[in-house]
Amino acid sequence: KVRVRFAPSPTGPLHIGGVRTALFNYLFAKKHNGDFVLRIEDTDKNRYVEGAEDYIIDALNWCGIHFDEGPGKGGTYGPYRQSERKNIYKEYADILIESGQAYYAFDSAEDLDEHRKDHEAKGKTFIYNWHNREKLMNSLSLSEEEVKEKIEAEKPYVVRFKSPEKEILHINDEIRGEMEIDTSILDDKVLYKSDGMPTYHLANIVDDRLMQITHVIRGEEWLPSLALHIMLYRAFGWEAPKFAHLPLILKPQGKGKLSKRDGDKLGFPVFPLEWKDPKSGDIASGYREEGYFPHAVTNMLAFLGWNPGTEREFFKIDELVHAFELSRVHKGGAKFDPEKTKWFQQHYFQEADNSYLTSAFQKLLHKKGISAKDEYVEEVVDLVKERGVFVKDLWEQAYFFFISPTSYHPKTTKKAWKADTPALMEELKEELKEVNIWTSENLQNEVKIWIGKKEVGFGKVMQPLRLALVGVLQGPDLYKIAELIGKEETISRINKAVE
Ligand code: GLU
Repeated sequence: KVRVRFAPSPTGPLHIGGVRTALFNYLFAKKHNGDFVLRIEDTDKNRYVEGAEDYIIDALNWCGIHFDEGPGKGGTYGPYRQSERKNIYKEYADILIESGQAYYAFDSAEDLDEHRKDHEAKGKTFIYNWHNREKLMNSLSLSEEEVKEKIEAEKPYVVRFKSPEKEILHINDEIRGEMEIDTSILDDKVLYKSDGMPTYHLANIVDDRLMQITHVIRGEEWLPSLALHIMLYRAFGWEAPKFAHLPLILKPQGKGKLSKRDGDKLGFPVFPLEWKDPKSGDIASGYREEGYFPHAVTNMLAFLGWNPGTEREFFKIDELVHAFELSRVHKGGAKFDPEKTKWFQQHYFQEADNSYLTSAFQKLLHKKGISAKDEYVEEVVDLVKERGVFVKDLWEQAYFFFISPTSYHPKTTKKAWKADTPALMEELKEELKEVNIWTSENLQNEVKIWIGKKEVGFGKVMQPLRLALVGVLQGPDLYKIAELIGKEETISRINKAVE
């Protein structure tokens, strides 16, 4: 059975790159009737950020990327927070030490700094590996007694992986194909620290094994760790899962990786939800709060590194599940295009049910202290929806259905409101008072007949009437507006305008 995991570290809000990784994992799992696991990798206490885990879960839920197992949800392979699995990892570090594939190292941070500086002075880079491990402070260079003594005296140590001296590894990535890695350039990575915490590498491999993960799908930034991970599986005698590294997401200009700071600079969100930094109080904008629908965001993200191989562009998340193929994910970086997200949004907005838009719009109206009947709001939505991309646009396009104009656009007023206009509007008002069937069709008929009788230009009547009812010379069909706001309100707005 296919089992995949999304394994974020709660070091801040999940940016869209992380959401894309989660999405591809989810799509792959669901396509193969597999399980999608959320695992929180919180072994690094120094980088832990308050609220980040909740944010991750809220963001995934909002996007419709639902996990089958994870914190708060449970599952057979829990707990799903690494901090709650702390006591598992030591045993595995010990296994590698016993089999001679890992070793204790006692070098202090200062010692290592010295070595780094020495090397730099000679124009070299210091790598802790077979080159020099014999000369450093570790269980390979010290005698057994010395090691025992240090451990008994509780000297701080780390456990390092003993990288093979010279070996060409052939490793495979589902997206990139086969790669060759020369192990002689790899450093002996730290797996475990004497504070009782594993490093990312050890915890990640052990958990993927214990949680029976079959496919590891993650960002390209983890590709440099792949050789080590493959060697760790081998060292334990475990079969490795399949790996797939997703391409980088590039800045809109296409140069360099999209960063968490790009959103503020360029004026578009790079986070699914708004995030308030717990320390600085700074707010980073999110797609949800900007008014995007989740489908627009997941549709946009799906195309960052993947395409269906057809002309089709619109896919809701369930349709993505159907269409997704890991083999269609490409290697090259994917350029992020905020305008494209808006384009998807416009599509989903136009496609949305009027009843859905109505309830969303009602929430906005409620915040403004306006209460209106659902049927009324739905008619308004139907009338103005084609001009909108976001629910908030409905307000801009339709506020005059809920509040009468408090001012009249000065420039157009000058143009449309002449000396004889008030008298004409008074007359029209009297005429309208007599209209009994208050529908846009009937209003249109009556007004047309009246204008014909008066022998005045059409614009001389319609423009000031529009100003009176709307406040500006824009908006949908004026008779429809009159119909919806009703007779009484129409008359009262004309009165107000001629005052
Ligand atoms: N904790 C890592 C991260 O923050 C997980 C990387 C992986 O998927 O192996 O992305």
